[in-house]
Amino acid sequence: MKKSTVKIVTSFSITVIVALSVLLIAEPAWAWGFFGHQRINRMAVFTLPPEMIVFYKEHLEYITSHAVDPDKRRYAIEGEDKNHYIDIDIYGKDPFDAMPRNWDEAVEKFTEDTIRTYGILPWNLEKNYFRLKRAFEDKNQKLILKYSADIGHYIGDAHVPLHTTVNYNGQLSGQKGIHGFWESRIPESFASDYDFFVGKAEHIKNIKSYIWDFIAESHVCVDSVLTFEKILSLKFPADQKYAFESRGVNTMRVYSKEYTEAYNAKLDNMVERRMRATILSIGSIWYTAWVNAGQPDLSNLGDLEFSEEELKEEEELNKQYNSGKIKGRDHGN
Ligand SMILES: [Zn+2]
Repeated sequence: MKKSTVKIVTSFSITVIVALSVLLIAEPAWAWGFFGHQRINRMAVFTLPPEMIVFYKEHLEYITSHAVDPDKRRYAIEGEDKNHYIDIDIYGKDPFDAMPRNWDEAVEKFTEDTIRTYGILPWNLEKNYFRLKRAFEDKNQKLILKYSADIGHYIGDAHVPLHTTVNYNGQLSGQKGIHGFWESRIPESFASDYDFFVGKAEHIKNIKSYIWDFIAESHVCVDSVLTFEKILSLKFPADQKYAFESRGVNTMRVYSKEYTEAYNAKLDNMVERRMRATILSIGSIWYTAWVNAGQPDLSNLGDLEFSEEELKEEEELNKQYNSGKIKGRDHGN
């Protein structure tokens, strides 16, 4: 009798363990998480000059909620995932010297296949800047909002160190899970203490080099992001590294509060610094697009209305995201 009870308990435990590990694998990862991307786009609005802030504040909800559309599109569109990263370190010892900034020259040097395989984030960002500038020139408020929200997302990705390396989830160094740890778990744990007021948006003289510069700044951080976690994991008691947290009806295995605090302290608030830099870069690129489009008057663009077709498209995107699988690279798994 006793024996069979033990057996039941054991098999129950195994079931629980299996279920928990499945949940761990199933946890989606977003650059900056949904939470971070939305917060960043929202705060970028407050860097803008009065002529722009009137418009952006009126559409604050749109700018905030659509901050994650590009991540949703990874579930619906083949190749969208390539827009979110660049594994710059596959291009040799001094990859930023080796890589031409111009798309045609980059393709000529490394082939289009290679460039696309390892991500096209900087070129995608530049393309979206020109789309936004054109939308301002045309005073097309729907497109102004769409491209502003999209650019906010991609600039956010470009400020995450692990979006610039082939070892994007620590999978090559025995640190699987570090992607979501750095960009989601830390900001979700500490963002209430972050200072998100970053000053005023600035006009950028050279958009291309500005984009490459913040990607290079992100890449410089990769070594610390990985090394500090490695050192910490070696000295931290293994049984205290993870904890279990309820998320709705599910129980998730997450990095424990203590481990997250210790990692954040080692990083010396790097995550907050990268978030602040993101916010300023977004505001500055929006502002530059508007200035370079001739500073169109945004105070009178009329009501924002979406056609039935556009609403259907959005619904379809949400459906694919909710039920589908990422087409291409999933940073978290
Ligand atoms: Zn992304």
